[in-house]
Amino acid sequence: MNFNDTEIVSSIMKDSGWEVTQNVDEADAILLNTCSVRENAETRIFNRLKHFENKFKKRKDKSIVGVIGCMAERLHEHLLNLQHTVSVVIGPDEYRKLPQMLEQASSGNKGVAVKLSKVETYDDIAPLRTEGVSAWLSIMRGCNNFCAYCVVPYTRGRERSRPLLSIVQEVKGLHEKGFKEITLLGQNVNSYKDEGSKATFDALISEVAEISKSLRVRFTTSHPRDMSDRLIEAVAKYDNICKHIHLPVQSGSNRILKKMNRRYTIEHYLGIIEKIKSSIPNIALTTDIIAGYPDETIEDHQATLDLIKEVQYAGAFMFKYSPREGTKAFAEEDNVTEEVKIERLNEIIQLQNSIAKELNSLDKGSTLEVLVEQPSKRNPNEWMGRTSTNKITVFPNEHKKYSAGDYVNVKIKRTTSATLYGEVVEQ
Ligand code: SAH
Ligand code: SF4
Repeated sequence: MNFNDTEIVSSIMKDSGWEVTQNVDEADAILLNTCSVRENAETRIFNRLKHFENKFKKRKDKSIVGVIGCMAERLHEHLLNLQHTVSVVIGPDEYRKLPQMLEQASSGNKGVAVKLSKVETYDDIAPLRTEGVSAWLSIMRGCNNFCAYCVVPYTRGRERSRPLLSIVQEVKGLHEKGFKEITLLGQNVNSYKDEGSKATFDALISEVAEISKSLRVRFTTSHPRDMSDRLIEAVAKYDNICKHIHLPVQSGSNRILKKMNRRYTIEHYLGIIEKIKSSIPNIALTTDIIAGYPDETIEDHQATLDLIKEVQYAGAFMFKYSPREGTKAFAEEDNVTEEVKIERLNEIIQLQNSIAKELNSLDKGSTLEVLVEQPSKRNPNEWMGRTSTNKITVFPNEHKKYSAGDYVNVKIKRTTSATLYGEVVEQ
C-alpha cells in the first residue's frame, strides 16, 4: 500500500515540476513514507532521520526532509519537535498539499498537514509507476474495523472506496502499457463497495479479470468476516485470478479473537477455509499471526499452533504483539513478557516453515506457469518469477531467452520452504 502511495506522491510531485532521484545526495527534498503498524517500523524511521541529521552536519546545503504517511498522522507536530531535521509532516489524506508545503519549507516555514478525509481516494491521480510487470492499485483507503491492537483506523481514517469504473479504466490502461499482473489493494478489500452502483468486490474483481486473460489479478487483504461465497466463486471461475488468498487469522483462540475485536470465531474461519479449499483446488492460503497478545495463555498459544497445523498455510507474516498508543489494547497491560513473546513467535515460525517446506515439496515434478520478473539475487544467469499461487520460482535463463513479463512453464525439480527451483519446458 505504501509502494502505491509513493507512486501517487511521485505523480503529484512530478506535476509540479519535481523529478524523482535515487541519489539522496542530489535530492532537494527527501520524503520518508512511513508505517506505524508496529513500533519496529517507526524505530527504523527515527534511525534514518538520525542518519540524515548526521549527514547534514557536514553539509551547507541541507535537503528539506519530509515525513509522510501513518507516522506523520500519528505523531504530527511532535515530529517537528522531536526531530529538528524534519520540516514537513503530511498525513495519508493530504498528499495534494506536498508541492505547496515544500515550497514554503524552502523559505523556512515548517508545516504540518494531517487532516483525515472521508472522501479522498486520489482517484484522479495516475500513480507514477516505474516497473512494467506488476502494478499495485489501491481500490479503497482507510479501515472501519477497529481491531483492538491496530493503529490503522486512526492513521488512515474511515473506509472509502474508489468508483468501479475508474478502477477498471486504470487497469485497462495498465494492460495496454504492458503490465501483466495487478494487485488490488485495501486494508479490507472484500468490503469494497462502489457508492454509485453498490457493486461489491466480487463484481469488481470479475470485471477486472474480464479485461484480458493474459492479465493476472491478485488482491489483498481480505477480512475473514467479509469473505463472501460470491468472491470465492469468482476466484474459482477465472483462471487469471491468482490462486492465492491471504486471510489473516491473528490467533487460534476464540478468547483472544474476542479481545482483539476481530468479530469472527475460529469455527467461522475454518468454515471459510473449508469452502475455499473445496471450491478452488490448488489454492495457496497465507495468513498473519500475532504472538503474545495481552493475557495470551499457553493454551491460547497452543490453539494458534493447532490452527496453523489444521489449515496448512503456504506462508505467513508472523509478528510479536506491539502495543500502539491510542488503540483499545494499549489500555491493557502488555503482560506477556518479551522473553515469552519471542519464544512463542519462534515456535510459530518454526512450525510454519516446516509446513511450507512440506507443501512446496508436493510441487516437485509438476509443471507450473510462472510470470517472469527479474534475475535472481544470487545468480544473474538464473531468473525468478511467481506461480499463480505466489510461490517464488527460480529457473536458468543463461542467454536471456525469457524476459520480464513472459509467461513460461517451469518443471519443478527442487524445493525449499521459500522457493521452487526448476527448468523451463517448451510446450
Ligand atoms: N488490514 C489488514 C492488514 C493490517 S496490518 C488486515 O486486517 O489483515 C498487517 C498485519 O500487522 C495485521 O494483520 C497484524 O497481524 C499485524 N499487526 C497490526 N497491528 C499490530 C500490532 N499492534 N502488533 C503486532 N502486529 C500487528
Ligand atoms: Fe487494522 Fe483490523 Fe483494519 Fe486490518 S482490519 S487494518 S488489522 S483495524
